Amino acid sequence: MKKRWGFMTMRLLFQVLFLTAMAFLILHSTNQLAISRASSPRRETRLRNEVSNQSTESRLDDWLLVGLLSTEFDEQSCVSRYQSMLYRKPSPYNPSPYLVSKLRSYEALHKRCGPNSPLFKKSVEQLRTNHSTDQLDCNYVIWTPLGGLGNRMLTLASTFLYAILTNRVLLVNNATDFANLFCEPFPGSSWVLPLNFPVRNLDSYDASSEKSYGYLLKYKLISEDLRAQSIMLPSFVYVHLESSYIWDMYDQFFFCDDSQLVLGKINWLLVKSDVYFLPGLFMLSTFDEELSLMFPSKETVFHHLGRYLFQPSNSVWKLVMQYYHSYVEKANQVVGIQIRDFPWSLISKDNRFNQIINCGLKENILPPVRDHNRKTRYLSEDQTGTEAILVISLYKDYYDRMKSYYANSTRLNRTINVYQPTHEEAQQLKNLSHNKKALAEIYLLTFSDVMVTSAWSTFGYVSYSIAGIKPWILLSSKVSKEVIDPPCRQVRTLDPCFHVPPTINCKTKRRSKANQVGPHVRQCEDVNEGVKLVD
Ligand code: GDP
Repeated sequence: MKKRWGFMTMRLLFQVLFLTAMAFLILHSTNQLAISRASSPRRETRLRNEVSNQSTESRLDDWLLVGLLSTEFDEQSCVSRYQSMLYRKPSPYNPSPYLVSKLRSYEALHKRCGPNSPLFKKSVEQLRTNHSTDQLDCNYVIWTPLGGLGNRMLTLASTFLYAILTNRVLLVNNATDFANLFCEPFPGSSWVLPLNFPVRNLDSYDASSEKSYGYLLKYKLISEDLRAQSIMLPSFVYVHLESSYIWDMYDQFFFCDDSQLVLGKINWLLVKSDVYFLPGLFMLSTFDEELSLMFPSKETVFHHLGRYLFQPSNSVWKLVMQYYHSYVEKANQVVGIQIRDFPWSLISKDNRFNQIINCGLKENILPPVRDHNRKTRYLSEDQTGTEAILVISLYKDYYDRMKSYYANSTRLNRTINVYQPTHEEAQQLKNLSHNKKALAEIYLLTFSDVMVTSAWSTFGYVSYSIAGIKPWILLSSKVSKEVIDPPCRQVRTLDPCFHVPPTINCKTKRRSKANQVGPHVRQCEDVNEGVKLVD
């Protein structure tokens, strides 16, 4: 007995020694990394100090976003994955352990079934037979890009969550203006659909395509009732979720549980969308249980998925750093103002600029030019230093106006600098370098201390949601030239707005807005017909 106690004590001692040595090694290497990566700009140092004042455990957690990111990556292949946290305040929102475990299982599935794996080849063979089988290990959902970058990030995150919920592998139809914007998000594999994929012209699918789910339902080529399904289900089905889906009841059936049973049997799905349809997945009882385990807090769904999926590639990160060092690094406080003028907007640039100033002054976001002593909400007494106002807009006009508005700011008790990284003057389609700049600006915005964003803008949604900052939204009207009163409103929750939620009742198969109210969804602050996730 005595001998056994002696042996156990030795073993315990050995374990304690081993764990201490490991902890020292991890800590040491983490500090080395942090120090070697950081130049020594003031703001960065301040953020870094805030991080290092936390406990060792939370510093290690922050490093990989509390388990959100896999540890399997090679750091040099995606520098932003390891550096973004140095430039942003740590997120106050932690992912649930269940979400973390689902992400790890998804990564394993992706590695097993990813492009060029034997199981992928087998599923492609099945595709050629034109009918689905339940004999396959790997089923897929392909996402194809549509719309601007903000729209794409929102629909890609929605499709990714759908892939997790339905045990599918997500593949991306990489258009030339989308390739190499982001790092590969899944370790040991790729999310890019191989170029030799047998179904061609994926972006040409629409509501009237014969492979469209709505079309198949409408013409009774497929049934929502699986028991009534007499013919074999096709191997490939297109799900039409462009905003126009709202006009066709059959396309909307995607958001009904019966349809999910049918779609669950199809080996290959293609999704094309320009709307953040993710909140619609919360309207289905099929996914209820999984979603509540993954996301105990509903308002941070995109915050986590966006931080997980969208790490800028090294070339985009270089741009982000270039902008950062030119504009943001020396400021004590950064106010990010994202101004999006939609073609439908009736408001003049004069009125729009007044709206921005009125919002900024009313909410104590911007310092008034004449009142020297009034402090903005974000500067405490001892922080009277430099403030950067970051104007993110396609147009130089707003930057010029803001710059002349603060031309006399030297009379204030601090320096106000106004910056604009780029002004492309027009949205450009199919232009990779334009998209790189847009992504770099989205990321730069996420380093703000406070944000003002534009109504209806998915560019703004992704920026504030990834940042974890609740912005003031500049409200817009589609029918008035006048500024709405109040000029802006702070969002209540972080998750983006689903502009066109379904308008059908799945039981009666009639139009109804019943779906749009529920425990987890509320009307958006900026779009009356839109809904967003709330707790
Ligand atoms: P939304 O139209 O505001 O919902 O945002 P999207 O990102 O989906 O589409 C707008 C597109 O216009 C962006 O992807 C960019 O290509 C371009 N764009 C709009 N605003 C800006 C901006 O402030 N900076 C840059 N670089 N591009 C912008």
